Amino acid sequence: MNLLKKLCETPGIAGYEERIQKVIKEELEKVTDEVKIDKLGNLIGIKKAKKLSGKPTPKKVMIAAHMDEIGFMVSFIDKEGFIRFAPVGGFDPKTLIAQRVVVHGTKDIGGVIGTKPIHILSEEERKKLPKIKDLFIDVGMKKEKVSKIVRPGDFVTLDRNFMELDNKIITAKALDDRAGVYVMIEALKRIKDCYVDIYAVATVQEEVGLRGATVSSFSVEPDIGIALDVTIASDIPGTKEEEVATSLDGGTAISLMDSHTISNKKLVDFLRKIAEENKIKYQTDILLGGGTDAGAIQRNKSGVPVCTLSIPTRYVHSVVEMCHKEDIENSIKLMCKFLENAHKGEF
Ligand SMILES: [Zn+2]
Repeated sequence: MNLLKKLCETPGIAGYEERIQKVIKEELEKVTDEVKIDKLGNLIGIKKAKKLSGKPTPKKVMIAAHMDEIGFMVSFIDKEGFIRFAPVGGFDPKTLIAQRVVVHGTKDIGGVIGTKPIHILSEEERKKLPKIKDLFIDVGMKKEKVSKIVRPGDFVTLDRNFMELDNKIITAKALDDRAGVYVMIEALKRIKDCYVDIYAVATVQEEVGLRGATVSSFSVEPDIGIALDVTIASDIPGTKEEEVATSLDGGTAISLMDSHTISNKKLVDFLRKIAEENKIKYQTDILLGGGTDAGAIQRNKSGVPVCTLSIPTRYVHSVVEMCHKEDIENSIKLMCKFLENAHKGEF
């Protein structure tokens, strides 16, 4: 889990992925034959197929796990030194109040998202839900000093350490989608014989509209696409049983549909068969809001059969995202077995 901790704690919002890109590049280099970086910053790790007699051209399988996390961009520093910011990706504003942040200026500095204490809130103010445009970051410095370190355009991440609960559960920021990146790397480490060319892509800018996957699938031209991402685990108080998308410790999640993609039926059936044959615990997932890189890969050129394999995660897009280690393990196993058998499938 040390690698997952490092992946979650390294900053990199959409469009500013350099630091996390460096960490992932080093890992991909250990498990692939070649790693390329395209102009948007996507990392494309290529692992060539073993030769199979009678089948001269191996299929290309693209795996996509996005490396960007949601965060903010500094938009304005007011005369008192308070920083205003624009969202990069979809945080729920009510989860942001009273959080610690890191502002990545000429150096990293700490700060907090401040708020009026409850003692002095009016009746009206107590009822209102916060809006991002009304929030501010307090770095404890006057404007003159802040302006020497921070400029509009600098990025901001939430400050939250990786933590394990009960030896089974992980809670951290950015499990979306560093957990997916981790599954991709670990699956490549474990893979034995493989007869497809694997393009393991750590994509950029997923959180702002699948932009990295759009351009990387254009250059890879895959025959099959699998996105590795987190999905909503809604097994929490207040959700009706029939509305629970996935549950923690319910196994890896094979996506049937989300708001961008209807997964390829043959690919879904193939993944289910592989899971059942190898006794890998899985659940299926229908998500009515949100999508993954699979949505971009599917629409590439003349179309690509795709599916998303997900890690069930509670509290997605907050700093207390939560995954179960067994679900991560099952995702690694299914990804690995799928790649070892992908040459047998007709999609
Ligand atoms: Zn994601």
